[in-house]
Parts: sequence; C-alpha cells; structure tokens
Amino acid sequence: MRKLIAGNWKMFGKLADVAGFSAAVTQASSQAELLICPPFVLLDRFHKALNGGAAALGGQDCHASPQGAHTGDVSAGMLKEAGATFVILGHSERREHHGETNADVRAKTVAAMAAGLTPIVCVGETGAERDAGEAEEVVRSQLMHSLPDGFAGVVAYEPVWAIGTGRTPTEADVRAMHGAIRAALVAQHGPAGAGVRILYGGSVKPGNAAALLALPEVGGALVGGASLQAADFLAIAACARPD
Ligand code: PEP
Repeated sequence: MRKLIAGNWKMFGKLADVAGFSAAVTQASSQAELLICPPFVLLDRFHKALNGGAAALGGQDCHASPQGAHTGDVSAGMLKEAGATFVILGHSERREHHGETNADVRAKTVAAMAAGLTPIVCVGETGAERDAGEAEEVVRSQLMHSLPDGFAGVVAYEPVWAIGTGRTPTEADVRAMHGAIRAALVAQHGPAGAGVRILYGGSVKPGNAAALLALPEVGGALVGGASLQAADFLAIAACARPD
C-alpha cells in the first residue's frame, strides 16, 4: 500500500500560494499518495490548480449536520463540492480550543462518511498523560468513543506534546502506540480495523521523515508546519516507500 502524506496547513496560506505549490506538487513524481488540507477558502482554487491530479484535497474540520444555522461552520457536503475527498477531524487543536469531545468527533465522522469523504480522525495523548503512563489508555478511549461502527477512514496518531514543538516520540514509542492502535481497531471493528491506515503526526520534518516512515506500523504522515513549503512537503513524501 502507498503511504499517505497529508499536509495540514492550519490557518496559514494565501490564494497567491496555491499556483506555485500546485505546480511543484504536479511536477514532482512521488511514490506516496499526497493530500493537502488547506483552509476552506483555498480549496476551490487548489482544486482548479491541481486539476484532479497530483494531490488530493481535504478539509480541516466539518460540522456534523448537512446544513443549518451554524455560523462559521462548513458541512462535509460543502467540502466535497469544493473538491475535497478527505477531512481531518478531532485534531487536538480543535479538541483543545473548540472544546470538541469524542462524541462530537464521532458525529462529524459519521457526517463525513455519509457525504463520501474519507475522515482522518486524530488521536493522541498530552505530555502529562504520557508522563503518567496513561498514553495508550487515553488513545484507546479516544478511538473507542470517536470512531463510529462501520468506520471507513484513516487514524492519525498525533501526540499533543509533539505538535509544533520539534519533539518526537522515540521510534520504539511510535511502534508501540501504532501497534496498540491497530489492536484497538481490530478489537472494535474486526477485519476492517486491520485495513485502516494509521498515520503518525507531530513535528515530522524532512530530517526525521525517513526514519518515521520506515517503521512498518506507520502508514503515512500528517504534517503541519513542514507542509507549508512545497520543497519540504515533497522531501518528506520522497521518504515514503510503499509497503
Ligand atoms: C499537526 O498539526 O497536525 C502537526 C502534525 O503539526 P506539526 O507537523 O507542525 O507538528
């Protein structure tokens, strides 16, 4: 299976960035599946610039309802219409700054799947939880309560303490957590859980991507800061060899 390299642009990027980034991605030949998740307002421009080619597009969140009086929100169907095929859900920044619960993430995941999007559901422990020896328990609980029955999507393991900090877990810790996530997915979803792609996210850079992406349990990467420059994003993707 090809690895998935997903860029989470968060609240960065301008319309003027889209053409150059899209051209760089289109000219590169990558063995990985590429995904760009820009701010909502850049989706349509990216969709036209990429012309259905070198990279897929995703949103960074969606509402659980198909439409309604929800000022500032977008629905999964709207993302689809703008050209997205994926959506990131339950990112720790949304859990922390927008108070999103596992139940919220689950409802959004159901909505994303109903709209034909592939949800990328983020889980991960805080530094305090890891220090207390609770990391696996926390992540198992997030999976149990964030993923609906019949989950058809991707899981991203993103230790909160590694996001945007330049710190990463040891390779042994990544392997152990991805193994625990796989076991939980199989326990919860049966054989379908064995096929769910599990990404690692948290300070992935060109300099550490090869080691992280070589781990057999790692099905790709969710990349924040280093996805904003096409050269860095593509350098990370170049480290991703198919399984
Ligand atoms: C993220 O926010 O999903 C992320 C992984 O960020 P960074 O790569 O900047 O740590």
